[in-house]
Amino acid sequence: MDCDYLIIGGGSAGAIVARRLADASQGTVILLEAGRSDEHDPAMLELSRLDEQTEETEWGFLARPQKGGPALLRYSRAKVLGGCGNHNDCAFLVPPESDFTAWEAFGAAGWGPEGVQPYFDRVESMVQVETDPPLSVTSAAFLRAGQELGLPRLQFRDQIAAGVGSFPLNVSGSTRQASSNCYLHPLSGLPPHLQVMTGTTAERLLFDGTKVTGCQTSRGAILARREVIMCAGSIQTPQLLMVSGVGPAAELRQHGISLVADAGGVGRHLLDHPDAPVIFSLASAVSAGELTLCEATMLLHLDKTEPAPEILCYFALRLREKYTTGDDICAAENAVKVTPNVARARSEGEVRLAGPDVRDHPVIDLNYFSDPEGYDLRTILAGFSFCRKLTGTAAFGGLGAVEVAPGPEVQSQDELADYVRRTCGTVYHPAGTCRMGREEDPGTVVIPNLKVKGLENIRICDASVFPAMVSVNLNNTVMMVAEKAADLIISKT
Ligand SMILES: Cc1cc2nc3c(=O)[nH]c(=O)nc-3n(C[C@H](O)[C@H](O)[C@H](O)COP(=O)(O)OP(=O)(O)OC[C@H]3O[C@@H](n4cnc5c(N)ncnc54)[C@H](O)[C@@H]3O)c2cc1C
Repeated sequence: MDCDYLIIGGGSAGAIVARRLADASQGTVILLEAGRSDEHDPAMLELSRLDEQTEETEWGFLARPQKGGPALLRYSRAKVLGGCGNHNDCAFLVPPESDFTAWEAFGAAGWGPEGVQPYFDRVESMVQVETDPPLSVTSAAFLRAGQELGLPRLQFRDQIAAGVGSFPLNVSGSTRQASSNCYLHPLSGLPPHLQVMTGTTAERLLFDGTKVTGCQTSRGAILARREVIMCAGSIQTPQLLMVSGVGPAAELRQHGISLVADAGGVGRHLLDHPDAPVIFSLASAVSAGELTLCEATMLLHLDKTEPAPEILCYFALRLREKYTTGDDICAAENAVKVTPNVARARSEGEVRLAGPDVRDHPVIDLNYFSDPEGYDLRTILAGFSFCRKLTGTAAFGGLGAVEVAPGPEVQSQDELADYVRRTCGTVYHPAGTCRMGREEDPGTVVIPNLKVKGLENIRICDASVFPAMVSVNLNNTVMMVAEKAADLIISKT
């Protein structure tokens, strides 16, 4: 089988690149997705039916235990057309401009605020966003409590700033606006030169020297005359590169993989938004969420030397267990939680190979709170101090809110740091494992036109190329990257 463009991974980014290349009519396009189709499946498409999703549409990865914490963290990744955009919480924010100033300073020329804005606009022209979604009584009380603590009520059409507000959601009614839904459905209406192959796993890239010629898949070889575009996400794009012979030479040797290109940055610099919960028990039953369990947010800008809020808190109407072992912090009745996330965390983890086969689950080493300056821990502890004040407000007091974890008896910074290390988690925002940057930087995997350094006919387009973390949830930015990638490919840049 052959095509002009082969796109590996039909997630948030891949679905967009496929559609844009097909619309530009420059040749045949194949979009490969290991999972099944999401079309006509209410559990995938309806945000309020998230709980009905099963393990069938989940890769089932575990992250390695963290230092100082016994828990093995489930590291959720969707295995379905539409990718994580189909099992996420649909919070849809535009990052502050300063994030892209940082990208450009990092060597991502053309990805500064002016370079990315037209592509955010393009995404917004395709995706409906509910800017004032319905809010449950409990979440409304949380917003009032934040206001009592001096935070303004935000409308997120404005710039990201300190305040409280409901998350804008990429939904139409209650239907997700994932990239599969917005760019590909109905699949029967796609142009004939775009073929979507679901249930097809990419196993390893095929090469002629350093030129990528296609991919071996679970349904045989597929050759790509022009380009292969890797969109398998921040965990599996580096994994697939490594099993194909592109990555840190010593690591590939360990697994008996023949080296095609020594690329030290592949799988390194894993960024995320680490968090830890402040858990409250309420005097009476918690409202069910209107569309989602995570309706409201609080952004804290406590250190004014930082360019934008450094803490993004999620207010959740239920505790979702994320661990396979460890503390049972989820036993409280009528519990809600506020999780401060470090918005631009500096700790870096790694994705490594557990074996030479793409089906061997990779090693995900998050390495949270490991940055040498201690910035991440300092920042989350500052967030904790603020969130713990919520019980003192009339709005939260009116709900009979009592802090159950870490618990009022836990007061010293050392005890709190220990609690954070034991309970830290994530909202699953891996990025940066094939990061974009200057060609001469040894950690760079792709240069600013998203071409892989040292190889021909291959680009990467997903969250793995982020040169630095963005301050808010990733999906909108991933979709922006895909829109810009499509332009770069079409214009043969
Ligand atoms: C539980 C959860 C909640 C989240 N909540 C939010 C939120 O509310 N708001 C927000 O903005 N962001 C959220 N995110 C993050 C956001 O959804 C992701 O960052 C984004 O979707 C990543 O897009 P991507 O294209 O990089 O990867 P993905 O969307 O993960 O796409 C990768 C695709 O590649 C496929 N694939 C992988 N390996 C292979 C292979 N070998 N062969 C073929 N196909 C393969 C996968 O099955 C997948 O479909 C959440 C993420 C999770 C997991």
